[in-house]
Amino acid sequence: MKVYEYQAKAFFAKYGLPVDNSLVCHTAEEAVEAYRKLGVERAVVKAQVHTGGRGKAGGVKLGKDEAEIKQYATQILGMDIKGFTVDRVLVGEAVDIASEYYVSIVIDRKSKSAILMLSREGGMDIEAVAKDTPEKIIKIPIDPLLGLPDYKAREAAFTLFDDMAQIKQAVPLLQNLYRLFKEKDASLAEINPLVLTGDGKLKAIDAKMTFDNNALFRHPDVFELFEPTPEERKEQDAKDKGFSYVNLGGEIGCMVNGAGLAMATMDMIKLYGGNPANFLDIGGSSNPTKIVEAMKLLLSDKHVKVVLINIFGGITRCDDVAKGLIEAFKLIDTTMPIVIRLTGTNEKEGRELLKGTKFNVAHTMGEAGKMAVELAAKC
Ligand code: GDP
Ligand code: MN
Repeated sequence: MKVYEYQAKAFFAKYGLPVDNSLVCHTAEEAVEAYRKLGVERAVVKAQVHTGGRGKAGGVKLGKDEAEIKQYATQILGMDIKGFTVDRVLVGEAVDIASEYYVSIVIDRKSKSAILMLSREGGMDIEAVAKDTPEKIIKIPIDPLLGLPDYKAREAAFTLFDDMAQIKQAVPLLQNLYRLFKEKDASLAEINPLVLTGDGKLKAIDAKMTFDNNALFRHPDVFELFEPTPEERKEQDAKDKGFSYVNLGGEIGCMVNGAGLAMATMDMIKLYGGNPANFLDIGGSSNPTKIVEAMKLLLSDKHVKVVLINIFGGITRCDDVAKGLIEAFKLIDTTMPIVIRLTGTNEKEGRELLKGTKFNVAHTMGEAGKMAVELAAKC
């Protein structure tokens, strides 16, 4: 689960990390009000969205009077950044930047631990640094039993700074960041840039945090910040109905029983040059209400042109599934092409029942994938 910069900064502040004074605003008027409250000359107006790269998208602007703050807030509010519409901005005191550094803690599967990532080349071009000069990003694994004791934090701090005045600030900063990361079950805690100000202070002027969804139950203070995107809302609703659903953006809706078969179905669609709209595991049983619910889910996705139903009849027999499908589709009003492939117990009887219906019946998985891709191409 992602949170906004201003929410991550609130966690930072609670854990003793140095952040700039800032206020979140929903309108340009509020932004001007915040600028007055901050009582600074120069202030930064920043888009708040669940994605990075705001600076490059024009979502970060420095203003030096009320008129400019108002102008930038007006400009940024409503802006689209990588598909996210900006509905709030953060107004903060502008920081006098001498240099920018990169610091993050993430879970690293390779070392099976959290790792600290550090670079002297922080700022908006960190992706290019990672790609072109990866040696400039230092990775330090954190032993979960030891955490970040002073000597380890000092070693990390020295990869960023040479001056003791900065090392002394960086050591507790890194330790606090790790404490926050661990205590809140984060999967990412990132400061980019961590800046050295003109007067020698370290400050986190950006903050990014992602939390492990599986641990949210023990962090109500994090979960209350959950603002699902329409996509996430849909996935949550599907979960509540007992489905496992992930939106993938393609044109072929998939309805499959079993996660492995669902993955294989997606592969098959790809093999024939199509794109799955989703992963959907409807689980066992041929219950028509379940099929109706699943179809509603697929039809609510405007990208879907064809639905591919791939069912393996094990304990649930294929003739029961066929009956369930026929019943279900009496309740669904759609002209969308439907491809069905049934295999397993009583598959012949199942297919027999589907003869003469509007369904496109396939025998093998390959045939089903091909059929679905061809039908989608015609739509
Ligand atoms: P991101 O592009 O989404 O990562 O947004 P950031 O918060 O990192 O801001 C992008 C860039 O704007 C930073 O790398 C800084 O160079 C600049 N910036 C952000 N806040 C300030 C500030 O208070 N003062 C100055 N001078 N520059 C800032
Ligand atoms: Mn940043």
